[in-house]
Amino acid sequence: MAEFPKGIKNLINAFERLPGIGPKGATRLAFYLLNTPKAYVEDLASCLIKMKTEIKICKSCFSVSEQDICSICQDNRRNKAQICVVERAIDVMAIENMGDYKGVYHVLGGVINPLEHVGPDELKIDELVQRVKIMLTDEKYLNCNLEIILATNPTMEGEATALHIKKRLEGLKIKISRIGSGLPIGADLEYADQATLCRALDGRRDI
Ligand SMILES: [Zn+2]
Repeated sequence: MAEFPKGIKNLINAFERLPGIGPKGATRLAFYLLNTPKAYVEDLASCLIKMKTEIKICKSCFSVSEQDICSICQDNRRNKAQICVVERAIDVMAIENMGDYKGVYHVLGGVINPLEHVGPDELKIDELVQRVKIMLTDEKYLNCNLEIILATNPTMEGEATALHIKKRLEGLKIKISRIGSGLPIGADLEYADQATLCRALDGRRDI
């Protein structure tokens, strides 16, 4: 069988590593770029490099940011005593697009998944516990009711992760809630429509 020149083959291999892209899709993308003006390819390459060098992880909530502390954490109008715990930064965007959540976030960086060798230590769980403990000793929050909203996806891994975090926070003087059943089992926050997401957040229950 004839083989593609190495330059194309390497690009196909690189595309195949992307989530949701199989060999056919990777080949199609490579040939699309081959036949597209050079300026576009240069622009694409520079966007990729820029993203990797300029985007930081917020030191407070671990969401994506252009600065050390993200714009949400820096915003004084946000309720810092309400922390919504999500799997990924993309979930922050989904909840932000809903428009009526006024608290802040904590991005775990995934969920506990033994099959994929992701344990609690691979996630920002220690950081969350630390964050809450520091807040509890901060007189700024003395008269606030601290609330942690566990908004991991309603999948098996998401539920297990929420339960694990709940246990880790046990005994601390805070309210812990779990997003409501508005979301279908196995759903992904990222793909939920805004009305469903609103219902899920409004319908959160104490756990
Ligand atoms: Zn932040």
